[in-house]
Amino acid sequence: MTELLSNFIGGRWQAGSGAGTALHDPVLGDALVRVDATGLDLPAAFAFAREQGGAALRALSYRERGALLAAAVKVLQANREAYDAIATANSGTVRTDSAIDIDGGIYTLSTYAKLGESLGDRRFLLDGEPARLGKEPLFQSQHVQVPTRGVALFINAFNFPSWGLWEKAAPALLSGVPVIVKPATATAWLTQRMVQDVVNAGVLPAGALSVVCGSSAGLLDALLPDDVVSFTGSAETAALIRSHPAVAQRSVRVNIEADSLNSALLLDGEAPGSESFDLLVKEVTREMTQKSGQKCTAIRRILVPEALYGPAAEAIAARLARTRVGNPRNETVRMGALVNRAQLASVREGLAVLQAQTDTLHDGAGHALVDADPAVACCVGPTLLGTRTPDSADRVHDTEVFGPVATLLPYRDGAHALALVRRGQGSLVTSLYGSNPAALGPAALELAAGHGRVHVVSPDVGALHTGHGNVMPQSLHGGPGRAGGGEELGGARALNFYHRRAALQASTTVLAALAG
Ligand code: NAP
Repeated sequence: MTELLSNFIGGRWQAGSGAGTALHDPVLGDALVRVDATGLDLPAAFAFAREQGGAALRALSYRERGALLAAAVKVLQANREAYDAIATANSGTVRTDSAIDIDGGIYTLSTYAKLGESLGDRRFLLDGEPARLGKEPLFQSQHVQVPTRGVALFINAFNFPSWGLWEKAAPALLSGVPVIVKPATATAWLTQRMVQDVVNAGVLPAGALSVVCGSSAGLLDALLPDDVVSFTGSAETAALIRSHPAVAQRSVRVNIEADSLNSALLLDGEAPGSESFDLLVKEVTREMTQKSGQKCTAIRRILVPEALYGPAAEAIAARLARTRVGNPRNETVRMGALVNRAQLASVREGLAVLQAQTDTLHDGAGHALVDADPAVACCVGPTLLGTRTPDSADRVHDTEVFGPVATLLPYRDGAHALALVRRGQGSLVTSLYGSNPAALGPAALELAAGHGRVHVVSPDVGALHTGHGNVMPQSLHGGPGRAGGGEELGGARALNFYHRRAALQASTTVLAALAG
């Protein structure tokens, strides 16, 4: 029998009372560990976090809370190799892909640790300048932001068990709000282990960080009006969360990060083989194959001028053909596995939906697996699809295949390109490629309303840009419409979600004393 991972709630480790759900190695098929949340007293756990964790965190300044994050960073760095081993076994990712999750999480945490230092010894944030409320200047209104007095519940997706935890926990803890994380079951091990290391190191106050592994049953029921919930996952689960009484009736603040049909657009006027053309080809292949395409920000639709459809198909397919797929323990392998059999089935199903409206320009089925048994391993080769009739191919604009699959689409002119991008109905990110700054800037602004992030790649930044799909803590993560309408990160902006804004109306002497 495999080990049953413990939950950390109410300030102590507690095992579920059920048999548990096994987590598997998606390449070898072995059962690794089990998770279970049966029988936990969730209302008591939430009360403990609110009362003990919240009070202890709020007693500290931003600088002091930043120092706690910095201490957590040291703990995580010291245990990094163990995380890499868990990621290989449970996520089936190659080292560089595991690093995006593990080091991305640690980097985000350290970025917020530094932000805490810069916010100094305050325990609340001033929001804007005082404003006169009438003719007399003595009585004014000053907006402030104070930490909410509830808990932050995180319900996370399977593809980023480390980054998904820390990109949310860093701004929450820095804001003074305790965290309860429920990782996706398939990859809960890494999240649980990281929480265990930080908890056991004693760097955070009791109740500041809790983890529940296994079923989500009862979590939303435990939420009270001061709490917030941040969800990452599918649109279907997001809809359930939005309609839960905690959100619909008790006004629990909710942030949703859902799926997205992100695009990459090569502007007109770039020849095949030009720097911009090559940058697009390189980025598209990287995005398709990194983490086997299991990134919410991955490029799903590639738009090029009609005349470049053939050359782009050829260049992308040639790069994809060189991708070695299989067991991440083999050093020649560049792309590991999908997370489990269910995702493998879902990718195959989604691919069939898209293939009904497209041509297959590079077939992932042609990739022989390296050191992996196709009957067991959840590995698929990368597939490039394409259609010369992008307007009528509806499924391409509404079906997210969460795997190494993207579709090439030709456009007639600039207006057609923008219209096709917008068919995604709101995305996390789009990337633009071109060499003419006078065209790139306006195109970026045209697409900004439909995207949380517009990533512009011109030849001068070709070697140093941070990547279409890489979420940097300095930039906003989230997107309107289909992407869920959420906002995360974006530097200090992330703290807004965990604070409550209030207008203090008072004498200027009172306000001045408060502002220090
Ligand atoms: P999912 O099935 O919606 O699961 C996400 C989380 O919700 C898991 O922790 C899951 O727990 C939990 N959950 C399931 N049913 C629930 C319920 N009734 N109430 C409360 N929680 C519930 O999503 P997924 O398939 O794991 O994730 C893949 C999707 O996430 C993709 O569509 C991807 O685009 C999206 N994603 C978006 C972002 C972003 O930042 N925008 C990032 C990553 C992924 P269990 O695992 O225990 O079922």
